[in-house]
Amino acid sequence: MASSHTDGNPADTAIVWFRDDLRVADNPALLAAAAHGNAVGLYVLDQESAGIRPLGGAARWWLHHALEDLRAGLAGLGIPLILARGPAALLVPEICDQVGASAVFWNRRYGAVERVVDTVAKQRLQRADVQVESFQASLLHEPWRLATGAGTPYRVFTPFWKAASSLEIRYPLPTPAPGCGAPGRIPAGDALDDLCLLPLGVDWAAGLREHWSPSEGAGLSLLGAFIQDVLPDYATARERPDLHGSSRLSPYLRWGQLSPFQVWHALAGSRAGHPHDASVFASQLGWREFCWHQLFHNPDLAVANLRPVFNAYPWKWPDASEPAAEGPDTRAHLAAWQQGMTGLPLVDAGQRELWHTGWMHNRVRMVSASFLVKNLGIHWRLGEQWFWDTLVDADAASNPANWQWVAGSGADASPFFRIFNPETQAKKFDPEGRYTGAWVPEAGNPHYPEPLVDLKESRALALDSYAGMKAAT
Ligand code: FAD
Repeated sequence: MASSHTDGNPADTAIVWFRDDLRVADNPALLAAAAHGNAVGLYVLDQESAGIRPLGGAARWWLHHALEDLRAGLAGLGIPLILARGPAALLVPEICDQVGASAVFWNRRYGAVERVVDTVAKQRLQRADVQVESFQASLLHEPWRLATGAGTPYRVFTPFWKAASSLEIRYPLPTPAPGCGAPGRIPAGDALDDLCLLPLGVDWAAGLREHWSPSEGAGLSLLGAFIQDVLPDYATARERPDLHGSSRLSPYLRWGQLSPFQVWHALAGSRAGHPHDASVFASQLGWREFCWHQLFHNPDLAVANLRPVFNAYPWKWPDASEPAAEGPDTRAHLAAWQQGMTGLPLVDAGQRELWHTGWMHNRVRMVSASFLVKNLGIHWRLGEQWFWDTLVDADAASNPANWQWVAGSGADASPFFRIFNPETQAKKFDPEGRYTGAWVPEAGNPHYPEPLVDLKESRALALDSYAGMKAAT
């Protein structure tokens, strides 16, 4: 790698290895590096380490802009950001050596593969006499700190959140003072464009650009606006896709442009005015924690039913190499669901909102997921994979945990017999049809498809399959 020279003693240099914490505020690893002497930022796009799940398209788009913004934020502090591609456990020690840094700091991750990568990197660095320290930054509670009275991981949300929310939560940390960067040798690294994160060929990201500003500053502004304007009615309005009733902070939390500590304490400051709304919102942050708690204790969350009894459910799978039953229409049904052409306006509105904006309202995510896995009988893993590719907030814990919650196979899952009816859900949560009207303006005219399946019949079939599964196990 080519390198540039600036003044400073490399022995005092610490690398901050950024991952899912793309912010300069409330970042313990960055603060530690600044306190060490001269800080250098590093981001490694690792899609190669064994077992790493490749990022989806919408996530890559967000990441590109988040890195651009992080680079600008760090530059304001005088800290350079090195970008690299490849297996992180090899590259981080290599770049540390090139920089001549004496320490590497990072904020912890909780996926099993990521933890292996971090452990290997740590061993290699320590062998080279480099100081390594990791910090808690993306979860309010370390998953290993919370256990039931029997010492086992929680599988039910209410006691989990009762225990978690009774613990003290630290205040957000300050941003380091400017001037803490500028080390001796800085490898040039890759250019941001070399990471190839933006769409190649067809530009499908216009809707994402229109709806989002993927920067730390935008996340903080959105948080402030949410607390002031949306929180006062959050408990009821959050269920309504036709209103701006929820925070839309999920991608900022996903990429760590906002920390849960910042959100928690912004909320705490406003609790007095709207205690019920604030506590309902806090419990949504609790669900985020609960999902990560599940992933930490069940590394296979995205591929294996948490409740093995569901292994006997006859979900359809359009890939014939899989053992599950294959219906003749499965592939066509899956495509129609992905494209928002199921003939059920609320489901189609959600799927089109997702494709266009990279986000879908929570109520509609539940209805659309339920339609796929229960009415169409398609395996939740296929829905999870589609969301993984299209959501800007797709995360390794919340996505599979919620899919399993809807499917009935997860922790504290929705009972299987509670099958959302997209028509009655639309009447209840989009009463004037404004949401569906905005996304599916042709609903009701002759060009709009008939429903893929009869809701009553497909519901009865799903309940029969469930009964069969129970009888067989
Ligand atoms: P708000 O209502 O304002 O909630 C505040 C924050 O709490 C959110 O930003 C999010 O970080 C967290 N949160 C809220 N609900 C949940 C939940 N059920 N599970 C976990 N965290 C929650 N959320 C993701 O962040 N990433 C995903 O990949 C994801 N996949 C999902 C898949 C399905 C099938 C379903 C039903 C839900 C999924 N969710 C996921 C949860 C939820 O839909 C989104 O977090 C929420 O819609 C984001 O909008 P918001 O920021 O306005 O939420």
